[in-house]
Amino acid sequence: MKVGDRGYMKTIIDREKLMTLKTCAACGQPFNLGDPVVLACGAWEGPPKLIHEGEAVYDEETATYVERRCYAARKG
Ligand SMILES: [Zn+2]
Repeated sequence: MKVGDRGYMKTIIDREKLMTLKTCAACGQPFNLGDPVVLACGAWEGPPKLIHEGEAVYDEETATYVERRCYAARKG
């Protein structure tokens, strides 16, 4: 999934995303219009998902966002 206008993994919740995503995989809370979100890897099965930006850490080694809990677990 490509998000953002420059292929960057960072975007804002708009009406269309609100309808399709419903809840955040990281915190389980519903998204709100205008929430900043990033495409991140996490503890869930499958491909990266959009989660609240505040719940993700940018991993410079892999140039991807990783869900906070998952990132902490990986770094030990
Ligand atoms: Zn969240």
